[in-house]
Amino acid sequence: MAPTDYELVIIGGGPAGLTAGIYAARAKMDVIMYEKAALGGQVIVSDWIENYPGFPDGISGYDLGEKMLAQAKNLGLPIEIEDVTGIEVDGEKKIVHLGNNRSVTTKAIIIATGASPKKLNVGESNFMGKGVSFCATCDGPFFRDKTVVAVGGGDTAVQESLFLTRFVKKLYLVHRRDELRATKILQERASKNDKIEFVWDSVVSGMDGFFSVENVRVKNLKTGEERSIKAEGCFIWIGINPNTSFLGRTLNLDDGGFIYTNGNMETSVPGVFAAGDVRTTPLKQIVTAVGDAAIAVMSAEHYIENL
Ligand SMILES: Cc1cc2nc3c(=O)[nH]c(=O)nc-3n(C[C@H](O)[C@H](O)[C@H](O)COP(=O)(O)OP(=O)(O)OC[C@H]3O[C@@H](n4cnc5c(N)ncnc54)[C@H](O)[C@@H]3O)c2cc1C
Repeated sequence: MAPTDYELVIIGGGPAGLTAGIYAARAKMDVIMYEKAALGGQVIVSDWIENYPGFPDGISGYDLGEKMLAQAKNLGLPIEIEDVTGIEVDGEKKIVHLGNNRSVTTKAIIIATGASPKKLNVGESNFMGKGVSFCATCDGPFFRDKTVVAVGGGDTAVQESLFLTRFVKKLYLVHRRDELRATKILQERASKNDKIEFVWDSVVSGMDGFFSVENVRVKNLKTGEERSIKAEGCFIWIGINPNTSFLGRTLNLDDGGFIYTNGNMETSVPGVFAAGDVRTTPLKQIVTAVGDAAIAVMSAEHYIENL
């Protein structure tokens, strides 16, 4: 085949992308990684990671992201801060379009663009940075001695709410069911925490305020009753959406927009692989993202060898 700029392009610099970079750099592949925002991905906004092996006392998400990045850099992974705006497949050659009207060619691509927090769509866009947040680590200290509402019932919602209680006076945890989905250990910690009051069977239906959030409206799904909670902040952890809009129709996606892969992380297009939160997978965690990435690099190497 005609020469390409790279053997492998990795898109996204979260745990999956950095792990792919570590494996590819160690294998001396001609590789580059593009990250559009902050290296480390979602991990760097996670307060505390207790379920990633190797850190018996846990580790802050920021530190874990920094360590992964340092490891990738030490192994010589070239990294550029660039928004990937599209990919094109021209037979065996793949073209990766970048935000500055530049494009590069490559033999294989690993998509590790992860996911972004889901929105409630109840008017929170008017209050972004004015009381609405998706990141306790980033914004928690701004809510010292204040009352906040948090939304969600999974591990992330509970873990991050617990972190927020270091700062806030009171936290209402609004969840659409009458019990949490989070793991038992987190449930126990939350129910023992005096600052947390659960608002069961409820959703946030709106928020009001002049310059910033002053009231969060909460609707009980069983009774239909709506009430206003006086709160200066609203933290939203109701799940994630995949970062796949830049792909257009190039690959097969599931109904939620996540990329279908097989166990070898192969997508519907030969030579294009996906790893981590961006793909259809039952568990979206750091440990699964890094495992996916190692497999994706192995598959990319096999693909390139057989061209
Ligand atoms: C608050 C919070 C707490 C969490 N706590 C835990 C925990 O305790 N334990 C655990 O295992 N997991 C936890 N997670 C989940 C974990 O962070 C994710 O599963 C993991 O980060 C997924 O890694 P990833 O590399 O697939 O995706 P991401 O971390 O989402 O990284 C994707 C990267 O791709 C970049 N990107 C996206 N689109 C483009 C593009 N077009 N061009 C270039 N770059 C692009 C993004 O900017 C991002 O940096 C938590 C998540 C959050 C939000």
